[in-house]
Amino acid sequence: MATGKINVSVDNIFPLIKKFLYSDHEIFLRELISNATDATLKLKHLTSIGEASVEYGNPIIEIKVDKEGKKIHIIDQGLGMTEDEVKKYINEVAFSGAEEFLDKYKDSAKDSGIIGHFGLGFYSAFMVASKVEIITKSFKDEPAVHWSCDGSPNFDLEPSDKTERGTEIVLHVADDSTEFLEDHRINELLSKYNKFMPVPIKFGTRTETLPKPEGAKEEDAAPTEEVDNIINNPTPAWTKQPADLETKDYQEFYRELYPMQFEEPLFHIHLNVDYPFHLTGILYFPRLSNDLNTQKDKIQLYQNQVYVTDNVEGIVPEFLMMLRGVVDSPDIPLNVSRSYLQADGAVKKISSYITRKVADKLSSLFKNNREDFEAKWNDIKIVIEYGMLSEDKFFEKADKFALYPTVDGKFYTFEELQEKLKANQTDKDGKLVILYASDKEAQHSYIEAAKAKDYQVLLLDSPIISHLMQKLETSKENISFTRVDADHIENLIKKDEEQISKLSDEEKETLKKELEETIANKSYTIQLEAMDSAASPFIITEPEFMRRMKEMQQTGGGGMFGMGNMPEMYNLIVNTNSPLVSEILTTKTAKKKERLINQSLDLARLSKGLLKGEELTNFIKRSYEMVK
Ligand code: ADP
Ligand code: MG
Repeated sequence: MATGKINVSVDNIFPLIKKFLYSDHEIFLRELISNATDATLKLKHLTSIGEASVEYGNPIIEIKVDKEGKKIHIIDQGLGMTEDEVKKYINEVAFSGAEEFLDKYKDSAKDSGIIGHFGLGFYSAFMVASKVEIITKSFKDEPAVHWSCDGSPNFDLEPSDKTERGTEIVLHVADDSTEFLEDHRINELLSKYNKFMPVPIKFGTRTETLPKPEGAKEEDAAPTEEVDNIINNPTPAWTKQPADLETKDYQEFYRELYPMQFEEPLFHIHLNVDYPFHLTGILYFPRLSNDLNTQKDKIQLYQNQVYVTDNVEGIVPEFLMMLRGVVDSPDIPLNVSRSYLQADGAVKKISSYITRKVADKLSSLFKNNREDFEAKWNDIKIVIEYGMLSEDKFFEKADKFALYPTVDGKFYTFEELQEKLKANQTDKDGKLVILYASDKEAQHSYIEAAKAKDYQVLLLDSPIISHLMQKLETSKENISFTRVDADHIENLIKKDEEQISKLSDEEKETLKKELEETIANKSYTIQLEAMDSAASPFIITEPEFMRRMKEMQQTGGGGMFGMGNMPEMYNLIVNTNSPLVSEILTTKTAKKKERLINQSLDLARLSKGLLKGEELTNFIKRSYEMVK
């Protein structure tokens, strides 16, 4: 029997490890199963190249929980370790790694939140165990050994009578970690971290019903059999070649990833790159609502099929974080902090590769089946618009397939839109005026008015669209977006309407003065316009600029200059050709005149959705009085 001192200078690192890693104790199981997997795959490799003359067979990894004995066993059939290897890899390598880790992060690790992302290796066992044993037999013809350590830097090493190849790790679970002796807790961890690991993992057994033997009677119970309960799928879809998979395989895998998601994804993107870095994965476009914050099921990051995190910030471009799926790369440096990750060159390349792949996929969907792309547009637009805003490279590509739907359900690309509007929607300065509505119901009367003039009205209703319009206006020449209820629309109206005002200049002056007197105190700029006599007498518009700035503030202006509370500002357009307006002008009694003006103004406010609360109540009361 040999005893020895683990070669570390810190006297007792284990309490420290425990304290440091408090929040993430559960990763011990992931680490130990990863080691078991490594050991199994190494043996597979050695046998395949003829360096190990043993039968590889169908090795599995088994997890056993002994609740009474307060022990957890992790048993593999991998390459095992000789006595020398235990001394080298466990005593020296593993523990010097521990020391290095502590040295480096003693001060910073606690509150920087980086801890969850460390591969802690073998010594993470001491986060939950007061004593750890390793019983291991190498595939080489050497005796088995039994190592044990109680958390002090002293270890014991003695011969063992283990005859089968492989390693068994025994954790004597500490009193403060007994939660890990519960089956449901282990199941939870296995399904979180190990669901797609490449070697089958057994946890317990389950009863399987077999087919009845031939000639069995109706009333005979079907025979059953106890079989290994394998908790993982060692060959998940992303590890396969796209050519070997059909749509239904991708859909099945989606359900495997998100068992609680009942809706099918809209489409998927299979990532597969070997150079200059390794990356595989499958991204899914789910049906997205307009709520940017619903991100329940996130993209999961794996390293060689081991779950690492669902915080893929920095690796997946931000605008794609709304997608779902899996990214797996052995090249992502997982043992480093997040800030390092973001500065890392390889990671940046991964991010731009993903952006490019997504743009190419969308582009081919658009080209190959435009009808289907249009049908999906509403569910994917938010990602595309967000991407166009945040990544210039993506903007360049998406500009060719981003769609602009009309209120009547037609879809144009930007180029098609320009072509379509050229003739009828150019203002007097030669600028293309793109009219849009953000709410078909609320802006109904304005939409109708614009359509009556043969204008195309788009329906642009995503929460970030105001930001995108801003970007389009600066990156394209001579265009401006104008909401149907905004002020710029007059530029267009004036141009094609050669309406002659029925009022003389003198009358107009009087009218304006009277209106201003009655509507004092209210933030309206009064403008007289000669319009069709059937058009509304009073129309309220809001300056496009003001409204858009307000909207952009609400959706996070990203570096917007501080515009605290912007004032409400509206234009009141008065149609001088409306009979009601003439009536206002000719009414003699001051009281009646005032009532006509206020009632008309309230009607205009009502149609713009501005009449609310007490004012609305009073308006309704007053209207009933009038009807009587
Ligand atoms: P890492 O896995 O990053 O190398 P660990 O601390 O997890 O670091 O493990 C240290 C070493 O111990 C491994 O590199 C391996 O050589 C050895 N080892 C750990 N677990 C096993 C196992 N189940 N079978 C064989 N060797 C193992
Ligand atoms: Mg390891």
